[in-house]
Amino acid sequence: MTEIAFDHSYSRLPDKFFIRTMPTPVASPRLIKLNLDLVCQLGLDDRWLSSAEGIDMLAGNNVPRGANPIATAYAGHQFGHFVPRLGDGRAILLGEVIDRDGVRRDMQLKGAGRTPFSRGGDGRAALGPVLREYILSEAMNALRIPTTRALAAVLTGETVAREMSLPGAVLTRVATSHIRIGTFQFFAARGDTEGVRALADHVIARHYPEAAAGDMPYLSLLTAVIGAQASLVAQWMLAGFIHGVMNTDNMSIAGETIDYGPCAFLDNYDPATVFSSIDHAGRYAYGNQGPVALWNLVRLAETLLPLLADDQDRAVSLAQNALATFDAQFQTVFITGMRRKLGLFTGEENDLTLIKGLLDTMTKSQADFTLTFRYLSHSAETINADEKVLNLFTEPGAFRKWLARWRSRISREPQTGFERRTAMLHVNPLFIPRNHRVEAVIAAAVQNNNFRPFEELLTVLGEPFEDQAEFALYAKPPEIHERVLETFCGT
Ligand code: AMP
Ligand code: MG
Repeated sequence: MTEIAFDHSYSRLPDKFFIRTMPTPVASPRLIKLNLDLVCQLGLDDRWLSSAEGIDMLAGNNVPRGANPIATAYAGHQFGHFVPRLGDGRAILLGEVIDRDGVRRDMQLKGAGRTPFSRGGDGRAALGPVLREYILSEAMNALRIPTTRALAAVLTGETVAREMSLPGAVLTRVATSHIRIGTFQFFAARGDTEGVRALADHVIARHYPEAAAGDMPYLSLLTAVIGAQASLVAQWMLAGFIHGVMNTDNMSIAGETIDYGPCAFLDNYDPATVFSSIDHAGRYAYGNQGPVALWNLVRLAETLLPLLADDQDRAVSLAQNALATFDAQFQTVFITGMRRKLGLFTGEENDLTLIKGLLDTMTKSQADFTLTFRYLSHSAETINADEKVLNLFTEPGAFRKWLARWRSRISREPQTGFERRTAMLHVNPLFIPRNHRVEAVIAAAVQNNNFRPFEELLTVLGEPFEDQAEFALYAKPPEIHERVLETFCGT
């Protein structure tokens, strides 16, 4: 058999960080999809991975030599309520692989059977949520937003009992780590400061080595995580992404998008948009994601207080100063990104007003978020393209006024229309994983065992900034009857 050179920096931590747990074998594994680009990036052997032995590993039927399967411990605030013990209830970490760029990456089987953290759950995943995570995480990566990746999806040949009986599947997830804010909370909630310290040291060495250099490494760690989260969530906002369950156990310390549950992309722009069926109060609405990320980071800061200073008041003040940097970092990434989306090469003081003016107009006119920016890119070169973008607005009058303001703003820059259009097309995608498309792909797979639509959608989303004329239909927002108003957790 082909060896995978697993390493195990996480399972070299003290025993209380995880529980050794074997995957539970399944009836008859069948490979749905192997991510060849990622296989290559990880330096793995695609021929072996798609052989019977490889598929057995991806399904949890064969634990290869060198793997050291564990379920990690974590806690978390779920919709604001603290749960002291969550942990990997349906995910098993096989180990870490050093990729071609020297980056350490976790390889985890999601849906591989019960673990000591499963509580009432079956430890399994249904096919639909596995495909959803595969599609969304790979689309995110193509949009250049930090994210966990999907290495493979396999069918188990078994069914899982949800509201109905559904085909079961396992996703192989790759992440720079699976450490969450909730991992810190797990130890802090037990008053285990040494546990928090060991975790913080691990995270510094693994993700933020520059924090080790200064004289306050734990404060530098907190500041670095705040920066990474602020940047990540601002990038979600720029892409119209709604995570849907920003519980502290679903926020990666490394700043990657993780735990794709009821997540979705906006069609028409409205900051109050919520898709998740369990988010009744709109806690995780699109427009709330910045404030919620900060709320989560305050929870992280609380866990680090004993490491920041011996004097508690001083520790609190250091943490508060670090947390106070969140807003500026979020705004900087957001405004810089918006300037690019609008084709602005320079910064002017009133740009935020211009940006807000557009977003307000889009909300009032139910304009499609993705297409507005994409079509506006063409308007940067010629007013002949204006009709197309105007057509996205139910009240084109207000948008026409905004267009005039934008034209006067860009006229103060020396770039040609062609240059501006080219730059805009590079940052404004045409293709996003629209909800109705994702649902259609899942329906074909679950109901008809047909994975061709899944393959095709992956192809389209792999090049989101290219005009793929043969796939033009995939760019279209849903018709009213196609709209998906609610998305569900994978559990
Ligand atoms: P999630 O909603 O996926 O972020 O999961 C929240 C918690 O529930 C985590 O501790 C998961 O491991 C656990 N969980 C979710 N689904 C299952 C399942 N089918 N079986 C066991 N545990 C689960
Ligand atoms: Mg989770």
